[in-house]
Amino acid sequence: MLQLANLRKSCPCANCLADKLNKPATYIPLLSSAQLTLRDIKMVGNYAIQLVWQDGHETGIYTFDKLKEGKY
Ligand SMILES: [Zn+2]
Repeated sequence: MLQLANLRKSCPCANCLADKLNKPATYIPLLSSAQLTLRDIKMVGNYAIQLVWQDGHETGIYTFDKLKEGKY
């Protein structure tokens, strides 16, 4: 089951990955409703989707393969 909070927390963009490296493993992010609300979903080629969040964050590309495997 996919939950938006899990998708947002595991955003695969470079900024979010770098941000996670700077936080301790026990860090639990507090997300606002805008960070957990989708404004748009765009196709990326035929292999992925780009999620556009209400707070303007839109650099995460989620591949169908990883979505199906529950990797996000
Ligand atoms: Zn991101």
